[in-house]
Amino acid sequence: MKKVKNIAVVAHDNCKGELLDFIDCNRTMMVEHHLIATGTTGRMVETLFKERSSKKDGVTFKKVRRLKSGPLGGDQQLGALIAGGEVDILIFFWDPMEPQPHDVDVKALLRLAVLYNIPTASNRSSAEFLISSAFFDHEFSIKRGEYFEYADRNVKEW
Ligand code: PGA
Repeated sequence: MKKVKNIAVVAHDNCKGELLDFIDCNRTMMVEHHLIATGTTGRMVETLFKERSSKKDGVTFKKVRRLKSGPLGGDQQLGALIAGGEVDILIFFWDPMEPQPHDVDVKALLRLAVLYNIPTASNRSSAEFLISSAFFDHEFSIKRGEYFEYADRNVKEW
């Protein structure tokens, strides 16, 4: 992955405040990268950047690539972007206390993030560790595991 990263940000409703505060506290760093988000999360992040830039508060307005809302397919769209190599980092504050209508999509997204070895943060402290990493502001080569030999496996003919 390049120095300027494609960072996906997603938060379930009860976690949106925490994610927005995290982005706000780290806004000068976050606006240096390309942000992708599910629909509602993305709208709220853009509103935050709009407010901050109008107050000349450390950032100029930063557009977020907004997908559909999570329950309407946004998590699946994000999964497809991961499979297509378009996401470098996933910051996904999912709610550990409330079942979601799109639980299966959440699980699928997290599975692809693990499969593609995408640095992933599911809570605030992991996100803080992730962006403080020495790799965050540098190029980094992601190792793809042996899973990827799967496509070359021999399947018994029928
Ligand atoms: P939202 O989706 O950003 O549209 O609220 C998040 C999710 O539930 O995955």
